[in-house]
Amino acid sequence: MPTLERRPPADVPGGCLAVVDPATGEAFGEAPDQRPQELDAVVERAHRAWLGWRDEPAARATALRAAADAVEAAGAELARLLTREQGKPLAESSAEIARTAARLRYFAETAPQPQRIDDGRPVHSEIRWRPLGPVAAIVPWNFPLQLAAAKFAPALAAGNTMVLKPSPFTPLATRLLGSVLAKALPKDVLTIVTGREPLGARLASHPGIRHVTFTGSVPTGRAVAEGAAASLARVTLELGGNDAALLLEDVDVERIADKLFWAAFRNCGQVCMAVKRVYAPARLHSEVVEGLAQRARSVTVGPGLDPDTQLGPVNNAPQLARVEAYTGKALADGARAVAGGHRLERPGYFFAPTILTDVPPTSPVVTEEQFGPVLPVLPYRNLDEALEAANGTGFGLGGSVWGTDLDRAEAVAGRLECGTAWINHHAELSLAQPFAGAKDSGVGVAGGPWGLYGNLRPFVVHRPREA
Ligand code: NAD
Repeated sequence: MPTLERRPPADVPGGCLAVVDPATGEAFGEAPDQRPQELDAVVERAHRAWLGWRDEPAARATALRAAADAVEAAGAELARLLTREQGKPLAESSAEIARTAARLRYFAETAPQPQRIDDGRPVHSEIRWRPLGPVAAIVPWNFPLQLAAAKFAPALAAGNTMVLKPSPFTPLATRLLGSVLAKALPKDVLTIVTGREPLGARLASHPGIRHVTFTGSVPTGRAVAEGAAASLARVTLELGGNDAALLLEDVDVERIADKLFWAAFRNCGQVCMAVKRVYAPARLHSEVVEGLAQRARSVTVGPGLDPDTQLGPVNNAPQLARVEAYTGKALADGARAVAGGHRLERPGYFFAPTILTDVPPTSPVVTEEQFGPVLPVLPYRNLDEALEAANGTGFGLGGSVWGTDLDRAEAVAGRLECGTAWINHHAELSLAQPFAGAKDSGVGVAGGPWGLYGNLRPFVVHRPREA
């Protein structure tokens, strides 16, 4: 496979980033292209704000509740801007904003609990939890607001401050979110910075940062970890996925086809834990391929602002080129596109929803992360072989098993090497669950109380039982 650069959009004169509407391919806005040197002052202000924020848990909870209210009040405006720059249908943008507010409310009510250790010694020990200091967050373009909230809600609830860098492809909704949150949060508790590389690299390695929490691709995650090593900052990495959906012999294909289709194609397939490969028993393979292809052919593709649209464009030109390259390589290797297989002849970054069959199992569209509206469906004859194939990549984010006998499906799911496994659905997460990838899909734990403790350090006090 050619290595395709993950390049941000072209700049415009005057130190700004041009922001492109992926439904038209035209620039419609701009955001500051900040210089890495600016981070020194930003991090210094985040440190000073931390001194006033770290010891006020009740005030923090009140501020986070007010922040959730402010996000909901601005929901319609945020959703339109998010769709404009990201491309997803408006209903999906609204759901993303609801999730952002829900995350703030969840962490407003999730406080760290001191713990006593009584282990028979003449002293007892108490574990208290202390915040770390300014935290850096770096996020991608597929869920700009939801993923930002997954970073700032637990970090701020824990008593840290944050400097957040969105993707240069999607800075605008995040900047608007920042100004909405500023109504509820003290100054400099959350600062949004925007710009091209090396802004993120400098942020990850800044000596004033105590925790770097990153969501994005595996190669960038490695670079971020290397950068953070310079200051020995804690690192949390939520990285790429290549989730398999494994269909069992007793699956009811017609009953699951809609759910399976949308588990792969929601947000135009640009979901870290989308279904990216399907393994079907050989006996059912053609029925599965046809069931998915019918849906791929009939889905309404268009601009996210159009109320009839079910599937929007790919977010950006380099990502569209990646999707085309993966598909082209698979077709050259002997795969057949039963639906789609090409970009659409219209302005913007549209790719026809694609179902691939006869795909060699070694094709990069199977072994790597396509991150777009393309789904290979592979037949299997023996369940052990299917599990070996499902587990046979460097990724380990999620996976799912589909069948009628739930006990059997659960037993098979227990053999998946990943962080989250689902039965008869995929990619649904609870705010209260831990979220952590296996293998190359991540380092550290986000989500639920684990996400809060990931932003805290233990401080242990030993005292004698008697004076
Ligand atoms: P990416 O790795 O190219 O970029 C992610 C972020 O890192 C962006 O803000 C980018 O500007 C920044 N960045 C780029 N180079 C950097 C550097 N050297 N140092 C610091 N920051 C740098 O990823 P992307 O293309 O924006 O997003 C898609 C990827 O994100 C996919 O692999 C997807 O699976 C992954 N993802 C993972 C999760 C998860 O929770 N595990 C969620 C969403 C997306």
